[in-house]
Amino acid sequence: MMGFDSEKIVLIAGPCAVEGEEQIREVAAAVKEAGIGILRGGAYKPRTSPYSFQGLEEEGLELLSRAGREFNLKTVTEVIDSEHVELVMKYVDILQVGTRNMANFSLLKKIGRLTCDNNMPVILKRGFSATIEEWLLASEYITSGGNSNVILCERGIRTFETSTRFTLDLNAIPVVKKLSSHPIIVDTSHSTGHRDMVIPMSRAAVAAGADGIMVEVHPNPAKALSDGAQSLTPQQLLQLVRELRPVAEAVGRHL
Ligand code: PEP
Ligand code: MN
Repeated sequence: MMGFDSEKIVLIAGPCAVEGEEQIREVAAAVKEAGIGILRGGAYKPRTSPYSFQGLEEEGLELLSRAGREFNLKTVTEVIDSEHVELVMKYVDILQVGTRNMANFSLLKKIGRLTCDNNMPVILKRGFSATIEEWLLASEYITSGGNSNVILCERGIRTFETSTRFTLDLNAIPVVKKLSSHPIIVDTSHSTGHRDMVIPMSRAAVAAGADGIMVEVHPNPAKALSDGAQSLTPQQLLQLVRELRPVAEAVGRHL
């Protein structure tokens, strides 16, 4: 359903968090205008600080799903708690497990069990301190439940480097290609933490063989309730697509 094949590069874009109806509609319009087919948006946010914005929860799911229908976009959101899996599945087309939950094996098992009938795609982000082997083993908690439709997402790992939010491990792309048959996408927003680095690292990820790219977009990043510094403007989203196209073609693929 996500249209993964050996040639197409799948793009996913949207805000870090759904903040309100106007915001998610504006982003959805920008995603559509850029020719991108999948809208992301967090409704339950796994924030580092308990005092930060935690998401609009079910109202966020509702707004995301409505924006997806209005603009004819597939939708993806993160599920952070075993108790929410069924609810979240009612609203979106694709589930996401975030970096902080990669090793939440009861959540992974529950997702595997609940999606084994519909084979709903599940994006499994790499834990920021997980080895590739640990990440691949985590994916098997989902697949052994009966759903093989897992998309792996490299989103940066923690290193000693402080110039970027995390360190984007592009090595993961060829390693995963060698060890696994799942598609691998790269989140260039969380891995860099800075919007001016998102486009160059997206080009690099596509050049290295990534099957897709996920980025955060906000109509007014300075006002974003989360991750504004790494969110592209709608204008920059158009620029991303323009710059990725020739890179994709250079490696025998297309957007
Ligand atoms: C996200 O994509 O919204 C997110 C929280 O990312 P990560 O789990 O990679 O930090
Ligand atoms: Mn974010």
